[in-house]
Amino acid sequence: MKGLIKGLATTAKVLARGAHTVQYPHVQPDLPERSRGVIALLEENCTSCMLCARECPDWCITIDSHKETIPAQTEGGRDRQKNVLDRFDIDYSLCMYCGICVEVCPFDALFWAPDFAYAEGDIRNLLHDKERLGTWMERVPESTWPEGYDGYTPDAPAGDDR
Ligand code: SF4
Ligand code: SF4
Repeated sequence: MKGLIKGLATTAKVLARGAHTVQYPHVQPDLPERSRGVIALLEENCTSCMLCARECPDWCITIDSHKETIPAQTEGGRDRQKNVLDRFDIDYSLCMYCGICVEVCPFDALFWAPDFAYAEGDIRNLLHDKERLGTWMERVPESTWPEGYDGYTPDAPAGDDR
């Protein structure tokens, strides 16, 4: 009997606390800003080093690039080679959101944004190309921006001189 009363008291206490669920999608969940929702690409920082693609356990990152020669800036100087990113895809139908790619990128080119609602009726549309991955930068919380980054601008120039 004592156990029953104790059980009912616990039930009443929990009932009084109210629900912890929300009526999604009518009510949007209040997620921590650093939630792992989607990966954003800051193309201007990417050097096509391939480290993220090699470390991804699901092989869901595809990168293509080519080299371009930058003529010497000074007389007697040497021409330099620059990697130009042609393709950077993440296939979210394979991604397991482990975050390894974001962690290993040595050039601060990948970031988490909290957005998660990008389900698709056609699985092929879960492949986000570099343009789409770039637009997710708009949603990356300011607290994770790399040094010198001033925020998302749709027409930001791609690539740098590295
Ligand atoms: S989060 Fe993990 S599985 Fe997804 S792309 Fe990055 S390394 Fe691959
Ligand atoms: S995102 Fe980072 S790790 Fe991946 S290719 Fe670009 S610079 Fe290298």
